Amino acid sequence: MRFIIALMKHETNTFSPVPTPLESFGNRGPYFGQDAFEAFRGTNTPMSAFIDLAVKEEAEIVTPVAAEAWPSGPVHRDAYQCITDTICEAVQEGCDALFLDLHGAMVTETNDDGEGVLLERIRRISPGVPIAVTLDMHANVTQTMVENCSVITGYKTYPHVDMYAAGAKAGDILIRSLKGKVKPAMVWDNRPMLPHTLRMGTDKLPMQHLVALANQAEADDALAAAVFGGFPLADIHDAGLSTVVVTDENQTRAEKICRHILDTAWEMRRDFIYDAEPLAESVAHAKQLTEGPVLLIDHADNCASGGTQDTMAVVKEVMRQGLENVAVGAIRDPEAVDQLIQAGVGNRVTIALGGKMDMPSIGLIGEPLQVTGIIRAISDGQFIPQGPMYTGVEQNMGRTVVLDTGGIQIVIIERGHEPFDLGIFRSVGIEPTTKRYVLLKSRLHYRAGFLPIAKHIVECNGIGVTGSDYSQFRFQKVRRPIYPLDVETDS
Ligand SMILES: [Zn+2]
Repeated sequence: MRFIIALMKHETNTFSPVPTPLESFGNRGPYFGQDAFEAFRGTNTPMSAFIDLAVKEEAEIVTPVAAEAWPSGPVHRDAYQCITDTICEAVQEGCDALFLDLHGAMVTETNDDGEGVLLERIRRISPGVPIAVTLDMHANVTQTMVENCSVITGYKTYPHVDMYAAGAKAGDILIRSLKGKVKPAMVWDNRPMLPHTLRMGTDKLPMQHLVALANQAEADDALAAAVFGGFPLADIHDAGLSTVVVTDENQTRAEKICRHILDTAWEMRRDFIYDAEPLAESVAHAKQLTEGPVLLIDHADNCASGGTQDTMAVVKEVMRQGLENVAVGAIRDPEAVDQLIQAGVGNRVTIALGGKMDMPSIGLIGEPLQVTGIIRAISDGQFIPQGPMYTGVEQNMGRTVVLDTGGIQIVIIERGHEPFDLGIFRSVGIEPTTKRYVLLKSRLHYRAGFLPIAKHIVECNGIGVTGSDYSQFRFQKVRRPIYPLDVETDS
């Protein structure tokens, strides 16, 4: 048996001004061939699960490419071409099955369905080839994806700490089907709703309940059942909540499970709407909390949803209200990093920090913040997460500097990075557990690493292209009517 195992992941925020060239993938570009195998074997990812299964089956393993980038604007045409050509060339050389670790919300400069177009192309080269696919919980699933693969599974957790399990499930179903033990029947459907990402955490309602229904279906008789909250900021026709169910040959049963989960989701649609309080109130509330660490969540500028990671509104408000003993992780500002490295550790500097990128999609220009502080540390920005998320997968924040204003220690980085692991601070000598406040450029993945150390969590509604107020975005492609953009659907 010759198995092709590949990874292509990008959650595209079509409102994001952050470009997505080939270099944005991986730590220094995508991993190709044996490098892809080495980089992901033994990690908490679907790709790693696929590798383990293939080894167990004593299959010949081909890993043409592993390419994952932080969310940002539409993927550049040549980047998409390079990644997908590499996979398709491997398919052309022949294979018995494919195992693909995909995201499901990739938009490119030239098409709205990066994954669907890839799967369609693979099936044109090798009609009917068995394909197992894992998708992120934030996938915007399309008919094209479902029609052009054999099995889809999704993550059941957000933060996504069960990526390996999703891969193991998809891979196992496909291998059993290769041996003639099961015949996967797959059904997909959606409802016209665009849930807020901040309401998709799986430790709380409503998502917790939908995941429980999916788990129950699997405990009963489904081979796999997945709920996808969707990624609302990828403005494409099929954005939003959907469900994929795989049963053993029983199409009718799969349809029934799918419908039940989706009907329940629709009934709970109001619970998927996040209501933000004004920033000044949130910070004032945080100031009253006596026991730290208090996490201040700057969710409107989350780079793992396409944020520029350089808006300064929340940091500015924290300074204005005089919060002390704060660690900030992290501001992306390559220009500032350069300036600070030239100044050197131990020196006092005043710089215009952040606000380097404009956000034309929401009509805002970048506003830097004047900051004075002492440079405490400079590093290469690399660390290995201790888990539970992306455990073992090397992270590269680019050159990294810590600027200490007295009350606030700010981690400043060159490459985007959502703080999901304590390593973002510990790798530069800051111990987050000793901080009264930890300000994080994150929406929800911070919970993976930071929830265990947090005494309180305060969501701070700052500025950015990952905000939850849909009225600031001009949706053009998503199917209408859709909840909550159109009030008439809420009847
Ligand atoms: Zn996700």
